[in-house]
Amino acid sequence: MLGATQSSWGSVRDGKWHITVNATPSWACRERSLCGVEFTPVNVTHAEMPPTNEHHICRQCIRANSRRLSRLRHVRCYDNGGKTADRYTAVYMDVDEGRGLYGARGMSEHPSHPQGVGMYCTAMPGRHLGKRIAFDQLPPDCQRLVLADRSES
Ligand SMILES: [Zn+2]
Repeated sequence: MLGATQSSWGSVRDGKWHITVNATPSWACRERSLCGVEFTPVNVTHAEMPPTNEHHICRQCIRANSRRLSRLRHVRCYDNGGKTADRYTAVYMDVDEGRGLYGARGMSEHPSHPQGVGMYCTAMPGRHLGKRIAFDQLPPDCQRLVLADRSES
C-alpha cells in the first residue's frame, strides 16, 4: 500500500517513543502524539532513526496507529498540483457508488476554512485527479477531514 505506513516519531524526556500526529513534525516546537501526549521532542534529531524494537514505543500509540492504518486502508489520495480549487482528492475505494465511481472528498489545503473547499462527492480514481500521493503528503487539515470521514465508516 502506498503511504499511510510512514509515521513520524518523537521521544519524550524519559526515553519513551511516541508516534506523532503530524507526519512532518517540527523538532523545535510542541507536537502531539497519537496517544494524546503533547511534548517537545528534546532528545531527537532529524538524523536519528526511530527504534525498530516496538518495546521502546508507547503501547497506546501503537494501538492508535494500527487503528489509523486500518481506517486508511481503502483511501487513495491525489494531488493535481493546484489546477483546481479542490486540489486534493481522497477516494474511498470501499464506498462503491457504481459506474466506476467511489465516495470521495475534494479538498483545498484548508477544507474547513470558510473560503476552503471540502465537499463530499464521488470520483473515479485515476490520473485525471492528479498525481497519486501518500496520505501523509496531504496537508494536515485534509488529513484530519479524511480521518474523520473514516472513523464514521
Ligand atoms: Zn504514545
